[in-house]
Formats: sequence, structure tokens, C-alpha cells
Amino acid sequence: MKQYPHQVVITDCDHGSVEEEKEEFARLGAELVLAQVRGEEELIRACKDADGLLNQYALLTRRVLENLPKCKVVARYGVGVDSIDLKAATDLGIIVANVPDYCIEEVASHAVALILTLVRKTAFFDRKVKSNQWDFRQGIPIGRVRGKTLGLVGSGKIGLEVAKMISPFGVKVIAYDPYLKEAPEGIKLKDFDTVLRESDILSIHCPLNDSTRHLIGEKEFKKMEKKPLLINTSRGPIIDEKALIQALKEGLITGAGLDVLEKEPPDSVNPMLAMENVILSPHVGFYSEESISELKRRTAQNVSDVLTGRWPGSVVNQGVKGKTRAPLSG
Ligand code: NAD
Repeated sequence: MKQYPHQVVITDCDHGSVEEEKEEFARLGAELVLAQVRGEEELIRACKDADGLLNQYALLTRRVLENLPKCKVVARYGVGVDSIDLKAATDLGIIVANVPDYCIEEVASHAVALILTLVRKTAFFDRKVKSNQWDFRQGIPIGRVRGKTLGLVGSGKIGLEVAKMISPFGVKVIAYDPYLKEAPEGIKLKDFDTVLRESDILSIHCPLNDSTRHLIGEKEFKKMEKKPLLINTSRGPIIDEKALIQALKEGLITGAGLDVLEKEPPDSVNPMLAMENVILSPHVGFYSEESISELKRRTAQNVSDVLTGRWPGSVVNQGVKGKTRAPLSG
């Protein structure tokens, strides 16, 4: 039987092929095993000889990690690492790595697509024309893109990319982001109420956490003086959906473009499903053939970096420094 210097196990993944991973580990001369397991016992059995893991949803609990004596690195496909017990990994000297920026371009262009679709009413007209109604007047009023003010709630990687993409359309960009000390180029930082008040289009790009859950609710809708279009490509629960539906019914906002909802998929009775001025997509912002290929390649790269003595691009458990199982330079 062939002897490999390293064994790498993919605990589980739901993407169709693992060609990028195969290529990466063939280059390294490592054995790659696609386990597709989820339960604790199965994980321990499948990964007990692994030097590194690639992980998507399978829960890597303390018990699992404690039973993987050779494991030096766990690389998560994507941004979130809630599937991995970070404290246990750190205690055991296992590096946890992620890929925080593989789909910035995709989410940003999705947000811009939602904005343009709503302003130019292209989805609305598509439905009309296909049901034999050829009449542009049905969509009136239709505004001009140039001259609008876009307000970002959160101006990190994706928010900033949205600003860059939309600025050439002649859109002015303002943002509320309490953690930024300096305004990024081309963006004016304002307080939350000013952004709510001045925006013609409001686009959500902050993370979901205890302080942003229902950040946009009844009180905030009442402060939106320009009856904006509301775009959400971040996380559904940042907007109080009951209040959003009410705001749409009362005309406090002009429309909404949502890639994410409080409940995904929505109930069939969700009133937004029947609203002409609401466009929805099924949490697809992250996806393109290119972004998924990049995600697979960079997740595999994170593992091979550690197995060849280097720090991976993005280490989640910084506390592991100084006690890694893998002998690393730097
Ligand atoms: P990021 O960390 O680069 O930026 C987030 C920004 O939000 C930061 O600048 C931060 O200071 C700011 N922020 C934090 N709390 C805030 C608050 N209370 N109010 C206003 N701003 C606040 O993250 P990113 O890469 O730009 O991603 C943003 C979000 O996009 C992610 O958290 C994720 O939920 C979402 N996302 C969605 C998809 C999708 O498929 N639709 C894919 C990837 C990411």
C-alpha cells in the first residue's frame, strides 16, 4: 500500500466535486479522504489518523478533537466557525483557519443588482410583459439612478465594494459604521439617524449579533424620511420582518430587495411573496462558480500551508500561537 507523508480528511461537504482539493493535496503528496460523516463516533473513526481536516457542517466537539492525536489544523469552508469548538482546538494546539473574503464581489454585485432592479423595475416589467401586458406606464413613477443617496449600514469589506461598484452610476454614498475610525474613500460617515433620514436606498452590510438583531424596526422605519428602497444581503434577523411588512403596507418605504429573511425559506403565507415592490432571492449572494472554486482552493491551501510549516492566510484562534502542534516558522 502507498505510504503518504500526510493524511487529510474532508469531514463533510455539500459541494458536488472536490477537484480543487484533490489538486492541492496531490501537489503536496498527501492522501485525501472524503469521509462525509457527521456523528461524533463516525468523525473520530474517520479522522483519527488525519494530520489536517477540511470541515463544513460536522460538529467538531471537544470530544472529537481530543481523539485526533495527529490533527494540526482544521480549515473551515467559508467564514463562520460555529461547527468547531475553538477553545478545545486552541487548548490542543490545533490551528483553526477560515476563508473570510471569498465572495465579497458576489454579495456586493448581488446588492447592486437588487438596487438597479428595484429602481428600474425590471423584475416588475418582466412579469408584466410575460403576462401579455406591454405598457411602461404601469411602472410609473420610475426614478433616475444618478443623484440618489445610498446609505450603508456597515461599511466593511462588502459595504465598501458596493460603494465602489455603484459610485460610477452617480450615486452618493453615506454610511453608518460605529467601529470605523476613518471614512473609507468615497464614503461619508454619518450617525445612524442621519443615514436613516437621508438615504434614498438603504443597504444592510453589518454582521448579525446581539446588538444588530432587529436593528431596523418600527422606530427606524418611521425615521426614513425619503421612503427608501431597503436592501438586505447580510442576515435576515437584522431587520424586524413584522415591522418591515407593516412599513411596506403603510408606504413608509418604497420597496425592498432581500437575499436573506428572518425565516429561510419563507412561509407560503408571508405577505411579501405577493408584493410587487419586493424582490427576493434565496440566500444566493455568496454563490458563483468562481467564488466556490476559490473557496475550495483556499480552504485546501490553509491545510497545506500548516502541513508545510507555514501559517495559513486566516487564523481564527489566534490564542493557538506559541503552542501549535505543527512546527511553524514565524
Ligand atoms: P466585515 O466584517 O468586513 O464588515 C462588517 C462591517 O459592519 C464592519 O465594518 C463593522 O464595523 C460593521 N458593523 C458592526 N456592527 C455594526 C453596527 N451595529 N452597525 C453598523 N455597522 C456595524 O463583513 P463583510 O465581509 O462585509 O460581510 C458583511 C455581512 O455580509 C456578513 O456579516 C454576513 O452576514 C453577510 N454575508 C452574506 C452573504 C450572502 O450570501 N448573502 C455572504 C457573505 C456574507
